[in-house]
Amino acid sequence: MPIYNAPLADMKFILNDVFKAEQFWQSNENLAHVDAATAEAILEEMAKFAQNVTLPLNRTGDEQGAHYENGAVTTPAGFKEAFQQYAEGGWIGLAADEEWGGQAMPKMLTVLADEMLFATNPSFMLYPLLSVGAGMALNSYASQEQKETYLPKIYSGEWSGTMCLTEPHAGTDLGIIKTKAEPNTDGTYNITGTKIFITGGDHDLAENIIHLVLAKTPDAPAGSRGISLFIVPKFLVNADGSLGERNTAGPGSIEHKMGIKASATCVMNFDAAKGYLVGKENEGLAAMFVMMNYERLSMGIQGLGASEYAYQNAAQYATDRVQGRSVTGVKSPNKPADSILVHGDVRRMLLNARANNEASRAFAVYVGQQLDITKFSTDPEAIAAANNRVALLTPIAKAYLTDTAFDAVIDAQMVFGGHGYIREWGMEQCVRDLRIAQIYEGTNGVQSQDLIGRKTIKCNGKFIAEYIAEIRDFANDLDTDLNFIKDATLDVATEIEMITQHILERAQENAEFPNAAAVDYLHAVGLLSFSYMFAKIAKAAYAKEGEFYQNKLALTHYFIQRILPDLSSRIMKIKAGSEVIMDFSEDYFINQA
Ligand SMILES: Cc1cc2nc3c(=O)[nH]c(=O)nc-3n(C[C@H](O)[C@H](O)[C@H](O)COP(=O)(O)OP(=O)(O)OC[C@H]3O[C@@H](n4cnc5c(N)ncnc54)[C@H](O)[C@@H]3O)c2cc1C
Repeated sequence: MPIYNAPLADMKFILNDVFKAEQFWQSNENLAHVDAATAEAILEEMAKFAQNVTLPLNRTGDEQGAHYENGAVTTPAGFKEAFQQYAEGGWIGLAADEEWGGQAMPKMLTVLADEMLFATNPSFMLYPLLSVGAGMALNSYASQEQKETYLPKIYSGEWSGTMCLTEPHAGTDLGIIKTKAEPNTDGTYNITGTKIFITGGDHDLAENIIHLVLAKTPDAPAGSRGISLFIVPKFLVNADGSLGERNTAGPGSIEHKMGIKASATCVMNFDAAKGYLVGKENEGLAAMFVMMNYERLSMGIQGLGASEYAYQNAAQYATDRVQGRSVTGVKSPNKPADSILVHGDVRRMLLNARANNEASRAFAVYVGQQLDITKFSTDPEAIAAANNRVALLTPIAKAYLTDTAFDAVIDAQMVFGGHGYIREWGMEQCVRDLRIAQIYEGTNGVQSQDLIGRKTIKCNGKFIAEYIAEIRDFANDLDTDLNFIKDATLDVATEIEMITQHILERAQENAEFPNAAAVDYLHAVGLLSFSYMFAKIAKAAYAKEGEFYQNKLALTHYFIQRILPDLSSRIMKIKAGSEVIMDFSEDYFINQA
C-alpha cells in the first residue's frame, strides 16, 4: 500500500519562516482573523483527513471508477461518505467569504491544504474543486439574489458545481462554441447544446449540481466577444430555496479514460434547459476566467501533490530495495547487496523530485499570497501590482508546475524499476492520474501562448520587468554567505530580461516566432521563479540552525548545479526561431517522403 505523510514540517517552514505569514496576515485588517496557530491546526486536520480518509480510497477509486447507468452517475464506494465528511468539516468553504458560510482563509494557506488532497486522491479532489471554482465565479459576477440562492448551498456541500465550456468541436477556441441560449419572456433562457469532458457533470455526492455553462444568444457577436455565462441547475430551485423539478440538463455518458477514473468526466446534454444569465450578455468569458484562473493554479497544486506522493514512496522504496554494491565499498555487509540509495543515478532522480517539491510548494504559496493581496488588501497600488503578478504567473503555476511534476513522477516511477510499472506500488496510477493536469484547463502549450502573448508581448514586457525588479531587489539584499544563490538568481534574471527583449523584437518581424518559442520561454521563466523561491528558502534556512535548515541549503546547491543549467538549452531553442519548424510543408506531416 502506498504511503503518504503530509509534509507538515516543510509547509510550516514555508509559511512561518520563508513568507512570515502571520506577520502578513496580522498587518492586514481583513486577514487579522488568521494566525500561525490557526493555520497549523488547519494543516494538521487536513493531514489527518488526507492520510486517513482520501488515501485509502485512492486505489479502490481507480479500480472501481465512476459509473454511468440509466442517465445517472455513481461514484466509487466510500466517496459519498468521504465527501460528506469533507463538507461537514467546512473544507469546501475554507477560503470562501464568511457571508456565504465560508471561513475566509487566505489562499497562501489553502493551497497547502489542497496539496494534501491532491496528493492522496486527485479524483476525489476534483469534485469539491469545481464547486469552489463555480462559487468564485458566482461571487464575482452573479446578482445578489443568485449569490444568496446558490453560494451557501455550494459551500456547505449540499450542492456542487461544474464548469461547462468544452464542446466536441471547440476546446481551446471557445469563440466557436455552438451551444445556444434563447431568451424567454420571463428573463430566463433556454439552453440547448452538447458539452463534453465535463468534470463532475453528474454524480451521487450532492443533491443538486449547479452547472455554469457558456452559450451564445441569438444576436451575439461572432467569436469570444459573443459568449455569455448561465447558471443551469440540475434541479430547478424554488423561491423558498427548496429543490423543484428536474431540469432538462443531464449526462449522456461518461468518458473511459487514462487516469482520474473515479472522477466522472461527462458528456452533458442541454435540451432547452432552463438557464439564468450571470452578469451581462456577451461578457461570460470574463466571468468564466475567474473560475479558470482559480482552477489553473489548482492544477499546479495537483502536480505538486502527485510529485510529493511519488517522491515519498520512491524514497522509501529506494531505502528498502537492495541491488548492487556501492562503488566506494560495501555499505551493508549483512545484506546480499546495498540499498539502491548508494547509486548516484537513483539519488539524482530523488533529488530532482525533492527540489521540485520544495520549490513548487514555495511558489504555490507565493502565488497564493499575491492572490490574497488582490482580495484582501486595501491599498490600490498593491492590488494593481499583485493583479499583474497573478496574470503573469498563472500560466507558470499551471504549466510549469505540472510539467516539472510529471518529470518528477516519471523519475520516481523509475526508482522502482519494473515494480514502478506494476499496479501494486501505486506509481503507475500516479503517472496516469497526473498526465491530465498538463492537458485540461488549457493545455500547457496553450498556457505558454498565454504567457508569451497576452502576458508579455501585449504589455511590451511590463509584467515580467516588474517581476524581475522584485527578484533583483530580494537577491541584492541577501547575505554574502548566500552569494551562491544570489549570483545564480541575478544571472537568471539578466538572462530572462535579455531573452524577453529578444522575443519582443523578433515577434515584430515574424508573427510565427512567439508560438514556436512559447513553451521554452515558459520553462525559462519557470526556472527564474524556482531560483527566486530557492533564494527565499535559503535566506530563511540560513537564519536558523540544525540539520533541517542545512538540508535546505544543500538542496539549493543541488538546484543551482543540476537543474538550473537547463536554462541555457531553453534559451538556445528560443533563439533558433520558428523557421526551422514552420518551413516544413503541411503535406510533410502526413506523407512519408
Ligand atoms: C479528464 C478531462 C476533464 C476535463 N474537464 C473539463 C471541464 O470540467 N470543463 C470543460 O469545459 N472542459 C473540460 N475538459 C476539456 C479540456 O479543458 C480540454 O480538453 C483542453 O482545454 C484542450 O482542448 P481540446 O481537447 O479541444 O484540444 P484542442 O484545443 O483541439 O488542442 C489540440 C492541440 O492543439 C494545440 N493548440 C490548440 N490551439 C493552439 C494554439 N493557438 N497555439 C498552439 N497550440 C494550440 C493544443 O495545445 C493541443 O496540443 C476536460 C478534459 C479532460 C480530458
